[in-house]
Amino acid sequence: MLTPILAKSTCATCKFCCSFRRQSLWETPIFDKATMERLSELFPNAKFRTAGPSGKSYTFDISDAYKTQDPEEEALCPFLDPNRGCALPPDLKPFDCKIWPLRAIRLSDHTGSNPHSQLKVALTPTCPAINKVPLEQVKQLAASGLGQQILDYAEKNPDIIKEETPFLSNIVF
Ligand code: SF4
Ligand code: SF4
Repeated sequence: MLTPILAKSTCATCKFCCSFRRQSLWETPIFDKATMERLSELFPNAKFRTAGPSGKSYTFDISDAYKTQDPEEEALCPFLDPNRGCALPPDLKPFDCKIWPLRAIRLSDHTGSNPHSQLKVALTPTCPAINKVPLEQVKQLAASGLGQQILDYAEKNPDIIKEETPFLSNIVF
């Protein structure tokens, strides 16, 4: 969904967002039960855990994939093919992965009067390719429909919403 500013060929040589340090496990992608069940059939060795405030969504569980105590060690997403990249068909690829490095966030000064108005789209600071794109260009892409699409999805699937943090404070929509 970000191909206008992020070339697939760039991601093919990077794959940074498909591996996770222990401290980054909160960022693993969220998906629904039906998707989890289909992924379980396709990847019988993959493990899953419940995720999100409702406890009714899922993500993959790679917590026992680490071989050392090094906090910098990265564990791979179970759906990452080292040669081909993401092995998932488009209909099974989590929405979180389709919109990375954008995230739906809830502003921390949310008063409760109108929760929908407090949903925003933030840019994570760790994608090396997007970091080279002028922020104005990212905002333009978000304003062209993608930002609203993310907020609409987030309202229907609130478990993907992250809380605003210094890491997720760069609002683009
Ligand atoms: S971190 Fe950015 S450049 Fe790297 S694979 Fe992910 S989206 Fe692509
Ligand atoms: S599902 Fe695909 S895009 Fe998402 S983290 Fe795993 S390999 Fe990467």
